[in-house]
Amino acid sequence: MNLYDLLASRFPADRGAPALLLPDGEAVSYGALEDDVARTAALLIEYEVEPGDRVMLQSEKSLEALVVYLATLKAGAVFVPLNTAYTEAEVDYFIEDAQPVLFVEDAVELVGDARSRPPLAASVAREDDDLASIIYTSGTTGRSKGAMLSHGALAANALALHQAWGFSECDVLLHALPIFHVHGLFVATHCALLSGAPMAWLAKYEDAAVLKAMPDCTVMMGVPTFYTRLLANPGFTRGAAAHMRLFISGSAPLLESTFAEFEARTGQRILERYGMSEAVIITSNPLDGERIAGSVGYPLPGVELRIAGGETGVIEIRGPSVFKGYWQMPEKTAEEFTEDGFFITGDVGRQDPDGRVWISGRAKDLIISGGFNVYPKEVELILDEMDGVVESAVVGVPHADFGEAVVAVVIGRGEEAGMIAALRERLAAFKTPKRVFFVDELPRNAMGKVQKNLLREQYAATFA
Ligand code: ATP
Ligand code: MG
Repeated sequence: MNLYDLLASRFPADRGAPALLLPDGEAVSYGALEDDVARTAALLIEYEVEPGDRVMLQSEKSLEALVVYLATLKAGAVFVPLNTAYTEAEVDYFIEDAQPVLFVEDAVELVGDARSRPPLAASVAREDDDLASIIYTSGTTGRSKGAMLSHGALAANALALHQAWGFSECDVLLHALPIFHVHGLFVATHCALLSGAPMAWLAKYEDAAVLKAMPDCTVMMGVPTFYTRLLANPGFTRGAAAHMRLFISGSAPLLESTFAEFEARTGQRILERYGMSEAVIITSNPLDGERIAGSVGYPLPGVELRIAGGETGVIEIRGPSVFKGYWQMPEKTAEEFTEDGFFITGDVGRQDPDGRVWISGRAKDLIISGGFNVYPKEVELILDEMDGVVESAVVGVPHADFGEAVVAVVIGRGEEAGMIAALRERLAAFKTPKRVFFVDELPRNAMGKVQKNLLREQYAATFA
């Protein structure tokens, strides 16, 4: 089934009900959204966009950008959003890779043109296995890869999340995420659209706009930096969050201190979940039941999850939302799947007997020092508890004797030798950082993820 038809089948019977609430106070009804989508889909077909063709969008977040996504689905084409921060040279790479037949850099203009055209009545038929979107991974560990997601995979995940997080037509979703990644584009919008619920549609995260919208909202989805920024704002009080039933976090690890501070401030426990471009959402803390800081919860219904090779190891998954492979990379795709069809996520974690999952980092970030494995998270958790430390990132850098040596980069203030000595009391020598560097900020990508590859480069000559 065409994913758009599934979403539209859940739009409210009263099409006058709001789909988007814009910051200027304007409301866009479900009827208006549906009409925009139908006319834009017709325009795409007029532009000779055929089923399976790629439509690439690099445009500011707006009502119209959402319309282009939905119209691309309706027209049977493949949606390829790009991070708005990408430079021309980077965009050239993605165009070369995805070979789009249409590149949209101004969604407002495209949808503006479409509004004078007749609407497309029926969606172009699509099978579950047909491609709906190619999402480029965040490029945290290297060059971005295009994850191919089918209509069926996106539908399965959307329905599972809608259920797991208890979405209904009574919800109002605070949507401040970018829509060029699975988080903002699929996870957030699909939950709202499947409920026929409105979204407070903010072009980007800004404290003032988020705090203004919050009293009218019930659910927010964010990356951890949204929550740290909210907590840094004295206007974010228990009262400000009182109308909200659920705060969800993902895309990067949520610090336990953020979880705790958030609960102390608002009385609410952030629900952390784990996902990736290649499978959308994989695990989630429960809506009803215990949400534990530092854990990403249980595999969603239908997801099979296992840990390769021992108690702590690489997480492998199989299930209805797993992608079809990396676009134009059959060899890379083959390498990342096991013989029995599990996707090798590249994230390292462990699982409790009751199924609860804990992530300790990425396999690529594992440090091997003197032949011993060091999981950066173990060191970071101890560092983060120390006085003066706001956040830390632990990486391995080349070392003549040990192969790699452990180095800590810390946001905060402190005295290096004292800190190393204190760490040594709690950690084996091979895990203890040989150097601690104090910084004001850690390098992060657009999703707020710490870019450890950049830290490894930056500190590569520490022991040279
Ligand atoms: P690339 O694959 O290009 O290196 P990326 O893996 O950051 O980049 P995404 O697909 O956007 O690209 O991100 C998925 C990754 O984000 C996961 O593999 C995981 O490492 C991390 N992640 C997502 N949610 C969580 C979470 N709740 N806790 C810890 N890590 C998370
Ligand atoms: Mg990845």
